[in-house]
Amino acid sequence: MSLAIHWFRRDLRLTDNSALYAATQASSQVLPVYILSQWTNDHRWTGPIRQEFLCKCLAELDRSLRSAGSQLIIRKGNALDELEKLVRETGASSIYTNRDPDPFGQHTEKDLASLASKLGITLHLFKDTALHERDEVLTGAGTSFRIFTPYSRAWGKLPKPTPLPTVTRLQPPSVASLPLPTLAYWNLASSGATLPEAGEKPAQKRLSQFLDRSALYYAQRRDLPAEEGTSRISQDLRFGLLSIRSVYREAIARMPSATLEQRRSLQTFVNELCWREFYFQVLWRWPHVLEHEFSEPFRGMPWVSDPHAFKQWTSGQTGFPIVDAGMRQLTQTGFMHNRVRMIVAMFLTKDLHIDWREGERWFMQHLLDGEIASNNGGWQWSAGTGTDAAPYFRIQNPWTQTERYDPEAAYIKRWIPEVAAVPAKRLTAPPTPGIRLAPNYPLPILDHSRERDASLAAYKQHLGR
Ligand SMILES: Cc1cc2nc3c(=O)[nH]c(=O)nc-3n(C[C@H](O)[C@H](O)[C@H](O)COP(=O)(O)OP(=O)(O)OC[C@H]3O[C@@H](n4cnc5c(N)ncnc54)[C@H](O)[C@@H]3O)c2cc1C
Repeated sequence: MSLAIHWFRRDLRLTDNSALYAATQASSQVLPVYILSQWTNDHRWTGPIRQEFLCKCLAELDRSLRSAGSQLIIRKGNALDELEKLVRETGASSIYTNRDPDPFGQHTEKDLASLASKLGITLHLFKDTALHERDEVLTGAGTSFRIFTPYSRAWGKLPKPTPLPTVTRLQPPSVASLPLPTLAYWNLASSGATLPEAGEKPAQKRLSQFLDRSALYYAQRRDLPAEEGTSRISQDLRFGLLSIRSVYREAIARMPSATLEQRRSLQTFVNELCWREFYFQVLWRWPHVLEHEFSEPFRGMPWVSDPHAFKQWTSGQTGFPIVDAGMRQLTQTGFMHNRVRMIVAMFLTKDLHIDWREGERWFMQHLLDGEIASNNGGWQWSAGTGTDAAPYFRIQNPWTQTERYDPEAAYIKRWIPEVAAVPAKRLTAPPTPGIRLAPNYPLPILDHSRERDASLAAYKQHLGR
């Protein structure tokens, strides 16, 4: 009898799971394991929102595994130590796991390979997080793409992997589990945020509902934050409640019966999935982007340190309604609309002149979909320092952005109750100097045109132009 350990990481599902499925095909018994991270006092890169959702996902995964005849085996501590103990306890002859797109996970995989050879067992690593990973998408010269559009063309031409069967039956586990975690394990208190339903079934429902409705108008509505115009599956991809293969296949399957316009929308959606993989590739190829600007000339920019202004930004008290609405949506729900993410990120870097890394960290602490690669890509894009970055001189004006994307101020009013009674046109243009929009809502903390000029001057001076 052969026993394999399946180590769940960011693939918290039984449906279309590469490593788990392969483990069941090759072994007579599979032990499903999740190892809780060790860091219980270091919350620089995560926060209660994602950890709370993780607890719920693990509980749902355990429920699914029990329906399949097994249960989730929880361990805590250093992943390699725990896996070694499990191999010795159970006599497992192999470990299966899906590859992680982040440098930290990749580092662990290298150490795990050494451990496997020390223990004389086999390690099986699988592609699962992306349709195309690492160096699968290359230029004609065999190098990695630095720019999205040619990358997406090459990505689009590659054959896509097909979904795998769901694992429905497993043997009962031979070892005991620790209890499922609560937030207390990480010394965190609840964020109080309203979270989406966790688990693979609710995630599949979100995907189907989107593909049946909003996906058909995605190209027209995806930039309007007041609308339910996007899929809202980013946390499901982040935690692996959905398989990217299934998401892609289901989107493509809608195309033959769609009108030309609807097909364009579905294609735009697929293009966003490609952005996700582009940023995975950037992080894999140039992991230093986590510390430095992707674009070398921008390294060493004189960013401002201003804790007071940073606090006004994080708490949604800048007096710029679209910025404040976004920052409040983030803390109350763990989500922020993509268009608004760009606006608040440009505001932090180009109006407040604060280092993009501070914003990047805040987002990682508060986003439910916090994804190191996409978040870094989004921040560097907004700061003008990234791969496909908005050129440094293109500085979005928060007022004109509001006029274009939230003309009725419906999004703003949803998140800033203080201004609910203010006519929309007063929320889409700078207020008369000294006149508040509402008694308990702040005046703008800065003059956008002045800060825009200051930003341009700083970038030009740094670049020697
Ligand atoms: C400053 C900034 C930070 C960001 N941080 C993150 C992050 O931590 N995690 C994250 O998943 N996305 C991030 N994004 C990208 C994007 O905002 C979210 O993926 C999107 O808002 C999620 O909502 P949705 O699922 O409804 O997206 P949809 O519009 O329905 O898109 C479908 C999927 O495509 C992917 N996607 C869409 N847009 C992008 C993009 N620009 N870059 C990479 N992938 C994309 C996501 O997986 C998303 O779920 C960031 C963008 C910016 C500008």
